[in-house]
Amino acid sequence: MTKLPVFVTDFLKVFQKDGFQIYVVGGAVRHLLLEEPVSNWDFTTNATPDQILQIFPDGFYNNQFGTVGIPQKIDADDFVFEVTTFRRESNYGNKRHPEKIEWSDDLKEDLARRDFTISAIAYDGKNIIDPFFGRQDLEKKLIVAVGDPDKRFGEDALRLMRAVRLASQLGFMIEEKTREAISKNAPLIKHVSWERIREEFFKILSSKHPAEGVLFLRTSQLLKYILPELDVCFAIQQKSPLRHHVYDVGTHLVMSLKHCPSDDVITRFATLIHDIGKAKTYRKDPTSQLITFFNHEVVGTKQALEIAERFRLSNKEKDRLVLLVKYHQFTVSELQTDKAVRRFIREVGKNNLENMLALRTGDRLGSGAKPTSWRYELFKKRLIEVQKEPFKVTDLKIDGHDVMRTLGVKPGPQVGAILKRVFEEVVEDKIKNDRSKLLSRIKQFPKNA
Ligand code: ATP
Ligand code: MG
Repeated sequence: MTKLPVFVTDFLKVFQKDGFQIYVVGGAVRHLLLEEPVSNWDFTTNATPDQILQIFPDGFYNNQFGTVGIPQKIDADDFVFEVTTFRRESNYGNKRHPEKIEWSDDLKEDLARRDFTISAIAYDGKNIIDPFFGRQDLEKKLIVAVGDPDKRFGEDALRLMRAVRLASQLGFMIEEKTREAISKNAPLIKHVSWERIREEFFKILSSKHPAEGVLFLRTSQLLKYILPELDVCFAIQQKSPLRHHVYDVGTHLVMSLKHCPSDDVITRFATLIHDIGKAKTYRKDPTSQLITFFNHEVVGTKQALEIAERFRLSNKEKDRLVLLVKYHQFTVSELQTDKAVRRFIREVGKNNLENMLALRTGDRLGSGAKPTSWRYELFKKRLIEVQKEPFKVTDLKIDGHDVMRTLGVKPGPQVGAILKRVFEEVVEDKIKNDRSKLLSRIKQFPKNA
């Protein structure tokens, strides 16, 4: 187990010198035991929120969660230490938050209300308090509910997502009884807000094992509730004459996610849903047995928009998700003109090109194809090449101010005319779009031309 850093032991001492008990708990202990870096420190104490605020007047109390956040500055970085008072499990009327929070003065009671054994270990730098044998489960690489799993998921349905999220992050299995209880209680996920579902779902997508996470969401029946458009895709076959596909649509999407080389969560999400329109556009020709998905990207774009709204994405995230789905069928044909390649760049946006290509790489590998082809490589080269040429006058490395300054002329039509001439010369490849070359070129124009 990694030792506690000094800034944490100093923090514990502040409580201990006032006679309070305090422990590191939750994810931080998990990371310490696995000898991984800790970025997020959770503590549990017998001090009540009022008492904590007396010690740290700059703390802020979130009474919905019974947590006091205490701002910390460590090596010029800002952190928030989350400190919760020992509490016992009480009545969860709404499957999400207990009706009232009951404080406790017993650490074991507090650990008993935590969700999984590997997150119910307390540590104060000297002693490890592990009444539910979380360390054994860490070794066995198992997610196990604390207490009766059926009851625990019944109390708080967010735990359903948290179990899958932890399994995806850690590469663990979910213990059998816990797994059965997740499937049994899956419909309760309806009681959880979409913001919280998204938060856990995005952690699954961003984790080390996103594909396994999504497959577990499916086998546990959770996917039906959170992403039904994807769930139905597992029943859509696409193996047909003249087609390279080996997987059903759902498996293909999960495999695409698995191979998507981007770390960006929206790109991963788009990769996971890029073909969802296929479920609604599936047609099988009775004579040729040929399967088609005509216009699936159009239908899929509409579904992506609905999904983005359901998951309460920000406008920026929504636009990006929809855009990546909309253009995922882009052609890499060597026969398309430079103009067409430029249009593609304009539509997708320069900032999204890398993400669009990451989706395509995932898509290729996720259909059992090779990661690349000469055609795809050529297309990527052309994307770079055509971007070197300016698309419009404003893309030139000089502007009207440069013309006025270099020639000593006043604003007027002459300035625009010179820029336009230079622009044409760049398009015709007579001169490069290079600032110093363009400035020298301007000097050749007469001042009153
Ligand atoms: P992370 O690495 O994301 O911080 P974490 O396990 O620390 O993971 P937090 O959301 O920070 O997760 O919660 C801190 C601790 O609080 C958890 O480890 C767990 O012990 C407890 N906890 C959080 N949410 C719940 C819940 N819904 N039900 C029971 N216990 C919970
Ligand atoms: Mg935490």
